[in-house]
Amino acid sequence: MGKIMIVDDARLMRNIIRNALNENEEYKIVEATNGKEAVELYKREQPDIVTMDITMEEKNGVEAAKEILEYDANAKIIMVTSLGQEKLLQECVEAGVSDYIVKPFTKERIMSSVSNSLKN
Ligand SMILES: [Mg+2]
Repeated sequence: MGKIMIVDDARLMRNIIRNALNENEEYKIVEATNGKEAVELYKREQPDIVTMDITMEEKNGVEAAKEILEYDANAKIIMVTSLGQEKLLQECVEAGVSDYIVKPFTKERIMSSVSNSLKN
């Protein structure tokens, strides 16, 4: 069973992602609500995959993704972005994130992103 860490400061968005991914209870899911918590939880839980919001208090998703990739170069991180965040997203891609999805996204889009990232 794979383990997914969902990082988002909005409970609604965490629930949307959790519900999209957990239909068949295929994954164990852990959640973090900001970038600082995400880095700590990544080290503790060693998830197979991370979905990472960009705009968060404490530490944003760009910084958190970079720190996680410095800690684990093989980390698989999917950025969850909004229109208008192209510049920040570019930074993440250069840092080595696996994929990105743009809000609002379909259930199918996030499911395929997760399964593709797990394969690579
Ligand atoms: Mg946010």
